[in-house]
Amino acid sequence: MIGVRLMKILYVEDEKYMARAIEKVLRKNNYTVDLAFDGEDGLDYALTDLYDIIILDIMLPKKDGISVLQEMRRQGLETPVILLTAKGETEDKVIGLDSGADDYLAKPFQAEELLARLRALARRKGQLVHDNLLSYGDIALNPHTLDLFQGDRSFHLTLKESQLLELLIKNRGITVSSSTIIEKIWGYDSEAEDSHVRVHVSFLRKKLALLDSEVKIQSIRGVGYILNV
Ligand code: CA
Repeated sequence: MIGVRLMKILYVEDEKYMARAIEKVLRKNNYTVDLAFDGEDGLDYALTDLYDIIILDIMLPKKDGISVLQEMRRQGLETPVILLTAKGETEDKVIGLDSGADDYLAKPFQAEELLARLRALARRKGQLVHDNLLSYGDIALNPHTLDLFQGDRSFHLTLKESQLLELLIKNRGITVSSSTIIEKIWGYDSEAEDSHVRVHVSFLRKKLALLDSEVKIQSIRGVGYILNV
């Protein structure tokens, strides 16, 4: 099994407030993000070739986004780029696409729209990593590799922990009883008891806490377990 990694995004944006807000949304959606606040830093970061996608503002101090893009392409860097254009600047769009941008987005934009563009670019790049992930709150689980992600961090779970979390994520909003958990994970004819479930829930809680996740496993006495944020 090939290990799944999170997609890494470089966002070059001089409006720091906006950069932080978008960074937060991207992290919540299981991307890892680096920010650069001017064109020179943006180009330096981009040339490290560590990124899967670059979001590049056009109006930037020190070096504008089009020049950054042209320089990247001149140096043979093929990382997909989404250009952020000012509203109504159709000329920017044309120059941008001619310079090797893969997509553009006019400011101001909805976060949802940016996320849709990122997914489309990722698909085009043939990286379907996100389709394997089950997410809830700020965490994402890959049930195939047993990796649990939160932001930049990840933890390898045991098979039982992963199965337990998968069950809780798939039943979000619903309290899952101990007997259901035992039946689904250990099998209906197993000898497992509530205490087994409690132990695995406590392991999983520790890992969520170590990842600083906002996700909590709430126990409802006599009923079962439910995920909460
Ligand atoms: Ca700007």
